[in-house]
Amino acid sequence: MRRILLWMASNRWLRYHIPRLGFARRAVLRFMPGEAPESALRAAADFKKDGIGVVFTRLGENITRIDEADEVAEQYLGLIARINAEGLDGEISVKLTQLGLDIDVDRTAAHVERLADRAGVFGKTLWIDMEGSAYTEKTVALYERVKAGHPNTGLCLQAYLRRTAADIQRLLPLEPAVRLVKGAYAEPATIAYQSRQEVDANFVALSVAMLEAAHSGRRIRIALGTHDVKLIEEVTRRADALGLPRKAFEVQMLYGIRSDEQRRLARDGYVVRDLVCYGAAWYPWYMRRLAERPANVIFALRQLLP
Ligand SMILES: Cc1cc2nc3c(=O)[nH]c(=O)nc-3n(C[C@H](O)[C@H](O)[C@H](O)COP(=O)(O)OP(=O)(O)OC[C@H]3O[C@@H](n4cnc5c(N)ncnc54)[C@H](O)[C@@H]3O)c2cc1C
Repeated sequence: MRRILLWMASNRWLRYHIPRLGFARRAVLRFMPGEAPESALRAAADFKKDGIGVVFTRLGENITRIDEADEVAEQYLGLIARINAEGLDGEISVKLTQLGLDIDVDRTAAHVERLADRAGVFGKTLWIDMEGSAYTEKTVALYERVKAGHPNTGLCLQAYLRRTAADIQRLLPLEPAVRLVKGAYAEPATIAYQSRQEVDANFVALSVAMLEAAHSGRRIRIALGTHDVKLIEEVTRRADALGLPRKAFEVQMLYGIRSDEQRRLARDGYVVRDLVCYGAAWYPWYMRRLAERPANVIFALRQLLP
């Protein structure tokens, strides 16, 4: 089921037709407050009441014309201004293929730098998402390039990739901000752990490697991008054992998933951020959410009922 849903995520015909179906549009609202940025800003204001920060993402990937990247960057610049005008605890996270990585690497880097500059004015971090493995090396390399001049940038790394342990060691001297996730794409066994046990074990090992770096005095911002509360508890135990405070790492979850746990963790003293998406290009992203939990397909199909 997971493979089929991930195949559907990358199918161009489906990408065009499914978002036009009313039931699909209704179903996606479980994972995003709406397509307009205003919906995301309103959600952030609600999260603020519970002491939860937000990471905003405008959905979209693999643009085919470079002027689309210019438009995306402009729109993000406007959003950063609104986040701060409205006094929200909000950061943004971008996909490099939405900023032109397939077309022009230098222009993509320039966009990232411009966005990081603007976020930095407000003391905020600009996050970079990690996409499929065809982009891993290019993304890590672009992060290295941008991080040198823009300390307020962070990168997502995927625990299912065998290379990630080495990537963390490679990035540590840069004093990185890392959002560790399990990984959302279909990757072959040659480069990625396949079983849940292996991915979870690597997630803990990578988290511990980052905690140990923090413990030894390295500056590193650690974010666990997971809804897996057992893993969060395990990492908490490891941090405790090192004598690190609860705020040595933060937890990031997606809008609409384990919302009760997000609030509970915030109450228990964890730093929590909710990643809130907006934008019309939600189809491939939504299919990856279904692939993570095929039971969600039933929920989507229920929207067919009157
Ligand atoms: C803040 C954030 C940013 C992310 N950024 C990226 C990125 O840049 N690149 C990337 O490849 N991946 C990204 N991901 C996705 C990530 O790779 C996983 O695919 C996703 O988080 C599901 O894995 P999990 O860690 O929650 O663990 P799982 O083992 O999949 O899930 C643990 C539990 O969480 C709940 N849960 C998980 N997913 C769902 C869902 N879709 N619907 C309902 N319940 C669910 C279930 O109760 C499940 O039992 C991001 C995830 C988060 C939270």
